[in-house]
Amino acid sequence: MNTQLFINGQFVPAKNGGTIDVLNPSNGELITKVAAAEAEDVDIAVAAAKRAFPSWAATPAAERGRLLLKLADLIEENLEELAQLESLDTGHPIRDSRRLDVPRTAVCFRYFGGIADKIEGSVIPVEQGFLNYVVREPIGVVGQIVPWNFPLMFTSWKLGPALAAGNTVVMKPSELTPLSTLKIAELIKKAGFPDGVVNVVVGYGKTAGQRLAEHEDVGKIAFTGSTLTGQSIVHSSAGNLKRVQLELGGKGANIVFDDANIDAAVNGAAWAIFHNQGQACIAGSRLVLHEAIADEFLEKFIKLAESIRLGDPLNPDTEMGPLTSEAHRDKVLSYVDIAKEQGAKILSGGKVPEDPQLRNGYYVLPTVVEAKPMDRVAQEEVFGPFVTVLRFKTDAEALEIANCTEYGLGSGLWTQNLQRAHLFARQIRTGMCWINSYKRVNPGSPFGGVGKSGYGREMGFEAIHDYTEAKSIWVNV
Ligand code: NAD
Repeated sequence: MNTQLFINGQFVPAKNGGTIDVLNPSNGELITKVAAAEAEDVDIAVAAAKRAFPSWAATPAAERGRLLLKLADLIEENLEELAQLESLDTGHPIRDSRRLDVPRTAVCFRYFGGIADKIEGSVIPVEQGFLNYVVREPIGVVGQIVPWNFPLMFTSWKLGPALAAGNTVVMKPSELTPLSTLKIAELIKKAGFPDGVVNVVVGYGKTAGQRLAEHEDVGKIAFTGSTLTGQSIVHSSAGNLKRVQLELGGKGANIVFDDANIDAAVNGAAWAIFHNQGQACIAGSRLVLHEAIADEFLEKFIKLAESIRLGDPLNPDTEMGPLTSEAHRDKVLSYVDIAKEQGAKILSGGKVPEDPQLRNGYYVLPTVVEAKPMDRVAQEEVFGPFVTVLRFKTDAEALEIANCTEYGLGSGLWTQNLQRAHLFARQIRTGMCWINSYKRVNPGSPFGGVGKSGYGREMGFEAIHDYTEAKSIWVNV
C-alpha cells in the first residue's frame, strides 16, 4: 500500500524525506514506515486544497454526492483489507473491524453522499417590499485533525459532511495510526475525486498538526482528540479567527437504577467500557450503581469482565486487543497506582495479563475500581479498559454524581421507569444520552459534547451546518 503523503491527487514523499515508524501494538514490531509531513508539506497541501476549492464548490451537489456514494461502495469492496489494516495498526479485534468499523465508515459516507444535494436554504418572512433568502455556502479549505482510537471511522465522520457541503480538505491522521486513512486516500483517487479536493498529511501534532491549525488559508479546523490539545488548537487558530470544532475527552456516567433489568445493564455496561479496550471518548467509564443492586450487579459484571478473551487482534476469537501504544498502556496502568494511593478498591484486573504470548503487546486486563466521586479516577479520563464504580442512594444523588465532571459527552441510564429516564435525560449535562442502551451512533444523529468535551457537532444536518456559512441575501422587490 502507499505510505507517502497524499497531496493534489498524488502520493509523494515528505520534502525533507522524514518518516514515522508505525508499530504493531500486539507485539511492538515495526509494520512499516510512513512519510512524515512537516510545515512545508502542510503548506503545499493547503495550497492544493485552495486551488481545488472553487471548482469543487461549483460542482453540482449531486455529482459531489455521487462521488461519496462511489467511495462508500469501494470501502465495502475493500472491506477485508481495510479491516486487517485497522486491526493491525490500532489493535481493534478483527471481529469488530469487520462488523463495525468498516461497515460504519461506508454507511456514513453513503449518508453524506445522499445529503449532498439536499442542503437547502430558507426564505425568511421580512418586511414588505423585500425578499430575504438564506443560502448555505462551503467554508473553503478545512483542516481535520484525527486521533488514533477510531482512525478509519473518523475519516467518514469528518470527510463526509465537509465534502458534501463543498469544502476541500487537508486531513492529518494520528502519527500512531495512519494506515487506514492512507488506504482511504487511495480509494478517494480511485473513486474519481478531483485532485486536491482531499489531501492527507501524516505527521506529528507539534509540527504538521500545529501548522494546519495556524494556517491563514484554512477556514476551519475540525479536531478530535484530547482536551489539552484542543485548547492548544484554539490558541493556534486565533491568527485568522478560523472556525474551530472540537470533539474532546469524556468521562461518561452509566447509571444503573434499582429497577433496571440487571442482565441487560451488565452487558450494556461491559460494552460501554470494554469495547475498543475502553479507548473511546464516549466510554461509560463511571459506572454509577444504586446501592440496592450494586453487589448483585458487580458480581455479574466482574464475572463478565474476567471472561473477556484478550489476544491477537487478527484472531477472530479475540474480544479485546492491546492498547494502541506503549506510552498509553503505561498511562492507563499509572491510574491503578493513583487509585490505590487515593484508597480506591481494585475489584478486578489492574495489571497486564500473565499470558506469555501477550507479553510484548500493550495489553491491560479489564479493570474495575470502586472509588469516590471526586477521586482522580472518577474525574480524569483514563481512556482504557478501566471502569470506576460509584454508588448512590437517591435519584438526586445519582444526578449530582453524573454532573460533577468538567466533561459532558455521553451518558447512560438503565431503568424500567421511562418517566424517570426521560426526566433524567433532560437534566444530565451531556451531548448524548442513551436509555437502556449505550454508545449507539448513527450518521443521522448529532454527535458531540458540552463543557470540556468540546463544541460543534458531527453527523446529521448539524454537521452540515458546522461545515457551511449561512449567507443572507436581501432583494428590494
Ligand atoms: P491527542 O490530542 O494527543 O491527538 C489527537 C490529534 O492531534 C493527533 O493527530 C495529534 O497528532 C494531533 N496533535 C497533537 N498535538 C497537536 C498540536 N499541538 N496541534 C495540532 N495537532 C496536534 O489525542 P489522542 O491521544 O490521539 O486521542 C485520544 C483523545 O481523543 C482522548 O482524549 C479522547 O477522548 C479524544 N476523543 C474524542 C472524541 C470525540 O468525538 N469527542 C472521539 C475520539 C477521541
